[in-house]
Amino acid sequence: MTAQTGLVNLLGLTQPQLEQFFESIGEKRFRAGQVMKWIHHFGVDDFDSMTNLGKALREKLRACAEIRGPEIVSQDISSDGTRKWVVRVASGSCVETVYIPANGRGTLCVSSQAGCALDCSFCSTGKQGFNSDLTAAEIIGQVWIANKSFGTVPAKIDRAITNVVMMGMGEPLLNFDNVVAAMSIMMDDLGYGISKRKVTLSTSGVAPMIDKLGEVTDVALALSLHAPNDELRNQLVPINKKYPLDVVLAACRRYIDKLGEKRYLTVEYTLLQGVNDQPEHAEQMIALLADMPCKINLIPFNPFPHSGYERPSNNAIRRFQDLLQQAGYNVTVRTTRGDDIDAACGQLVGQVQDRTRRSERYIAVRQLNAEG
Ligand code: SAH
Ligand code: SF4
Repeated sequence: MTAQTGLVNLLGLTQPQLEQFFESIGEKRFRAGQVMKWIHHFGVDDFDSMTNLGKALREKLRACAEIRGPEIVSQDISSDGTRKWVVRVASGSCVETVYIPANGRGTLCVSSQAGCALDCSFCSTGKQGFNSDLTAAEIIGQVWIANKSFGTVPAKIDRAITNVVMMGMGEPLLNFDNVVAAMSIMMDDLGYGISKRKVTLSTSGVAPMIDKLGEVTDVALALSLHAPNDELRNQLVPINKKYPLDVVLAACRRYIDKLGEKRYLTVEYTLLQGVNDQPEHAEQMIALLADMPCKINLIPFNPFPHSGYERPSNNAIRRFQDLLQQAGYNVTVRTTRGDDIDAACGQLVGQVQDRTRRSERYIAVRQLNAEG
């Protein structure tokens, strides 16, 4: 139920939840399929447009339900085709969604939380602290808004969005139920019909939740590795202190094994100049991932003010990639897209009201350092 209106927001309901809703108002379950198509295939947000529902049912729905996406604050289209939306969620914070067209694919990068509590040292979202979990409607609402921006309906025919990655703001495994519900709508034929191989959840390594994920879904998994040993990873990805590399890699392995043949883990590795981009790091990574069915995605660091890190030179990036490739790994380097609209990884800032007040602490510390 939406707090402001007291109406049930149908946007974030999975098919079984919507069937239950119709039953609860004394209607047939098959109405769920009809309404889902209107919402997700045709981008409709008013019941009067749903012409295959009788007038009485439409009135009944108007009285108890709504279809409410997050409020669009801005929409930018980059010269390279990248699109970025800033949307406001119920907590008042803003989050970002980015669409990246490349090589015949259209990938939508979706946020799961306003801010993030995990405070990875090189991530601008982390530097803002945590504000709120997004509801399932706010998560799938980002797909709904992006899909509508392409104008053509139904979604299944248009297919501007072929892939979704949960790689926007937030740690998706710390907003588990809402993320799982939204991903289920992404994959449902009555939703966006995206294949399970093309919906990817990226985690910084919340090990027990990786196992829990394997119990309820079979989407693709990406692990934000960023360091090949515990000492360095403890500094860059602080949750490593709780779930160290052997624990998190074992959980990933169980997840991938459960998915079966031809499935693999995507390993994300943000390259930070002089920190984790040396040949010794590549050698350690080669040993660490020896038994893991995986593809490696190197992400050259995207700078933001006061980060304290730099992006390595193209030569250093190539050298790191070559070392891994020579050891037999499939390695891609993520090209930066949408730079001109601040849409690149780690540049997603939104406007988060920090409940942990980390950003204030962070700014205070920076000032102290600068003064000292
Ligand atoms: N919280 C999740 C998903 C969101 S971040 C996670 O950490 O996996 C998506 C990817 O971008 C992660 O691999 C993250 O570590 C990386 N990233 C964050 N800040 C970055 C930056 N400034 N430059 C490059 N990559 C960054
Ligand atoms: Fe959170 Fe991911 Fe950023 Fe780490 S990298 S602070 S987990 S959003």
